[in-house]
Amino acid sequence: MAIRKPKVRELGEAIRAIIKGPFTTKFPFEEADIIPEFRGFPEFVDEDCIRCGACSEVCPVDAIEVEEVEENGRVIRCVRFRYDICILCGQCGALCTTTKGIVYTNEFDKSTFDRNEVINEIEDELVLCEKCGKSITTKKHLQWIAERIGEKAYANPTLILPYLEDKNLVDIDTNIEEPPEILREDLYKILCPECRRAVWMKENFL
Ligand code: SF4
Ligand code: SF4
Repeated sequence: MAIRKPKVRELGEAIRAIIKGPFTTKFPFEEADIIPEFRGFPEFVDEDCIRCGACSEVCPVDAIEVEEVEENGRVIRCVRFRYDICILCGQCGALCTTTKGIVYTNEFDKSTFDRNEVINEIEDELVLCEKCGKSITTKKHLQWIAERIGEKAYANPTLILPYLEDKNLVDIDTNIEEPPEILREDLYKILCPECRRAVWMKENFL
């Protein structure tokens, strides 16, 4: 049945709205009033992100890009948030390898005409296999693993050498021309899993 006369309560609300103004916020003309618990866009934490790229694997909308680029003879891994795609779901922070590599800001509005403005990027040098030149992972990633497993890291030169380099105890020069054949001293080099397996096979069984 159609309502012919407004109820008293609705009439009261209409009068209050005329006097006090609308109940809705004036955003974007005024700053929005955000509660502290609000989850906005994610950001990398420089000291706790190891640039492993695992967060990009769990992002449901592919808003985290991982790119490996050559720069002045070094290979760099860039991990970047694309805020123009991010849906603020929180998966990346919940499943971050270190659990502390991402924080959520209160920001939710990044409207722009230039998509390159809505990018948050972080990078680190990649460690390359001294035999085949394949990228293993970032220096920070290997150092983080070495710190977590403690003295056991000394069992694997791929883990311990970047860790010792960070403490200025060794120099790693990955630009050395390596002979293609497998030698015994290769056991003490930074190697990708395939090359380490090949070196172990040769050392123990051939
Ligand atoms: S440490 Fe966390 S935030 Fe950094 S790349 Fe890995 S998963 Fe992503
Ligand atoms: S909050 Fe969700 S959508 Fe945004 S980058 Fe993280 S995982 Fe991707």
